[in-house]
Amino acid sequence: MTMTRRDFLSASAGLAAAPALGARAWGAPLPREADVVVIGAGAAGIAAARRIMAANRRVIVVEAAGRSGGRCLTDTATFEVPFDRGARWMHNPDTNPMIKLARSAGLDISAAPPGQKIRVGRRNARAGETEEFLAALVRANRAIDEASRKVDVSCASVLPKDLGDWAGTAEFVLGANATGKDLKDVSAMDRARAQERNTAISCRQGLGVLVAKLGDQVPLSLSTPVSRIAWSGRDVTVETPAGKIAARAAIITVSSNVLAAGHIKFTPDIPKRQLDAAAKLSLGSYDRIALQLPGNPLGLGRDDVVIEQSNSTRTALLFANMGGSSLCTIDVAGAFGRDLSAQGEPAMVAFAVEWLAKLFGGEAAAAVKKSSATRWNSSPFILGAMSVAAPGAQPSRKILTEPIGCMFLAGEATHETLWGTVDGAWESGERAAEAALRRIGALRDEPVDAPVRAPKQRRQGAPIN
Ligand SMILES: Cc1cc2nc3c(=O)[nH]c(=O)nc-3n(C[C@H](O)[C@H](O)[C@H](O)COP(=O)(O)OP(=O)(O)OC[C@H]3O[C@@H](n4cnc5c(N)ncnc54)[C@H](O)[C@@H]3O)c2cc1C
Repeated sequence: MTMTRRDFLSASAGLAAAPALGARAWGAPLPREADVVVIGAGAAGIAAARRIMAANRRVIVVEAAGRSGGRCLTDTATFEVPFDRGARWMHNPDTNPMIKLARSAGLDISAAPPGQKIRVGRRNARAGETEEFLAALVRANRAIDEASRKVDVSCASVLPKDLGDWAGTAEFVLGANATGKDLKDVSAMDRARAQERNTAISCRQGLGVLVAKLGDQVPLSLSTPVSRIAWSGRDVTVETPAGKIAARAAIITVSSNVLAAGHIKFTPDIPKRQLDAAAKLSLGSYDRIALQLPGNPLGLGRDDVVIEQSNSTRTALLFANMGGSSLCTIDVAGAFGRDLSAQGEPAMVAFAVEWLAKLFGGEAAAAVKKSSATRWNSSPFILGAMSVAAPGAQPSRKILTEPIGCMFLAGEATHETLWGTVDGAWESGERAAEAALRRIGALRDEPVDAPVRAPKQRRQGAPIN
């Protein structure tokens, strides 16, 4: 990932993003057959289903949760403005399909907030200090890029040792805040291969609203967790509490943590190669604490983004006065964020208030009118925030894209350069859909990939059909 000295908002590509509460459910009984069944109605699943519908093939998306959108979730009920509990920013406007899709869906998009501030204790960083910090970011990033050309080590192990007072902040911005993991747990190669994520663009109605809207015309069965998939090189049967669906191919978009946790059983088992790859691409931790702070007690501008000079991982990123409202969000991530979110919402809110008081004085605590915090690690059908390769594990992304019989994995973790993003998930869904269409003979322009053969089974364990 190349990084310019433009700003730290771009540097921190994982800067995260609305619940699409009350998404449309499949009104009819679950179909018993489809050409392709898609598991999961996040960005990847919706993109895959749209591609299959465009090829005039029968598709059904089965989603465990009672809503669509997955890690894109806009809460439109709690605060005066939409609150993106998951993904918030779209990057790379020239190539990001989500931006065009948002426009054509009639939603409003706007460029990133201009105000990016760094606090040094109770004051703003001086111009020279900000320059110094941005230079430290560039050097750290360059060191990671260079190291990644030789061997896949941890990002932390190759950081320049002389980043001085900015070492902790650079670690936070490039590690926890960008990927959900501390740099010691991040593969230098994975980080370096990630496509630059320039410019942060938001959707006023919420990114979760956008993704749910894009799924409006897709046949979708909500609250339908897949428990087992019986597969072969020829067909699949997907089992849910609402019944079984037989299909010629399946696209599985669940997160790497859900796949590795074995919550979906496979008959026969899926190859260890793919299961190991999913485990090596485990999800980092990224959560958002939202505080309604009427009267602007922090004295900040509309959409100001603030980080602090910190020498520990106990730090956060503030997004203040969102869209001119009194809603402020405090993002916590990495090992610190994971421990904090495990302690529950009251502890998260207490940290946010204490952190704001440290940087802006005590008035913030008294001003909190309403609060809410996400806890993605304990969200049962997600289990974390975004995938990051462990040191040495960058090749795992490609492994996840290998077909398994007539099953295809998709989702952000399967994207080699746009992992951890919504557009990456979207593209991965389209890619998997094309592969599935080819497998069932609906696209004839390219040869069919060689299938991974299902291991021989005893008769009673054999795949259905
Ligand atoms: C806090 C946070 C901030 C983020 N910020 C950004 C950002 O600013 N910009 C950005 O581009 N990206 C951001 N991301 C990452 C982005 O949200 C993800 O990369 C993307 O949404 C992943 O989409 P997906 O379709 O791959 O997976 P998911 O959204 O996880 O979709 C998978 C779906 O599978 C379903 N499922 C699971 N198990 C089953 C089962 N057994 N049966 C049926 N369905 C099942 C799940 O419920 C889920 O809906 C952020 C993520 C988080 C958590």
